[in-house]
Amino acid sequence: MSIIRMINDLTRRGLTAARVGETKQAHRLLSEATRKHPDDIDAWLGLAGVVDDLKEKEWCFKEALAIAPDNQEAQTGLALIQEKLTHRQPKDGETLYCYRHPERETSLRCNRCNKPICAKCAKQTPVGFRCPECIREQEDKYYTGTNSDYLVAGTVSFPLAFFAVALFTQLFGSFGFFGLLFAFLGTPFVTGVIAEAVRWAVSKRRSRYLGHVVAGCIIVAGLPFILIPLIPLIFNPFAAIVPSIFVFFGATTVLARLR
Ligand SMILES: [Zn+2]
Ligand SMILES: [Zn+2]
Repeated sequence: MSIIRMINDLTRRGLTAARVGETKQAHRLLSEATRKHPDDIDAWLGLAGVVDDLKEKEWCFKEALAIAPDNQEAQTGLALIQEKLTHRQPKDGETLYCYRHPERETSLRCNRCNKPICAKCAKQTPVGFRCPECIREQEDKYYTGTNSDYLVAGTVSFPLAFFAVALFTQLFGSFGFFGLLFAFLGTPFVTGVIAEAVRWAVSKRRSRYLGHVVAGCIIVAGLPFILIPLIPLIFNPFAAIVPSIFVFFGATTVLARLR
């Protein structure tokens, strides 16, 4: 299918000037063409080719797209310019805006993808400021686990946690101060062993929420031991202390160890 467009004389002369390298003349002719014939898409596309400033180029492509939203040349051109605009180095006195918060001025850039980011979005890493996208991307490379690892982690940790909290409650629950001390000292050790068992069970693959899953299992396993002594009929809050110690320090231990 061929669409024959009437190209107006001004635009034709402008495009010819551009083709032979007479950029200044082309600029003059094509700007005039866009003023006189604002719906002439060839004038806008031609002008985009001869203006220096990226913002001006962007403007020309946008105008062309306003006339013909499906125009491929304008679409490609605009995409290219916008890519350039996000990655370019700032000129003196130019203000940058966070790419996630276009209203927020910033002077920071992600040192990996070079996009401007505001102080709230930027994260300080050992190698400099990074944007959340780049951090996420790197984390995804770091996390090698699969979804079934979560199932494995739960299956391994829940019975161990349940057994351990039952044992702690039984052994240390009636020892008074020393019982609490043993629970306090023993919990990080025992839950550390649970964390290692999980790590071994998932073949040392890392997952974003592995620690959360195991911490969740410790909490769920410990809850009955905390809640049952609080039933009005039994009411013995002292018996809830040892399982509470186990749940609290156990959950924090596995969260720290399974990163
Ligand atoms: Zn980045
Ligand atoms: Zn931001």
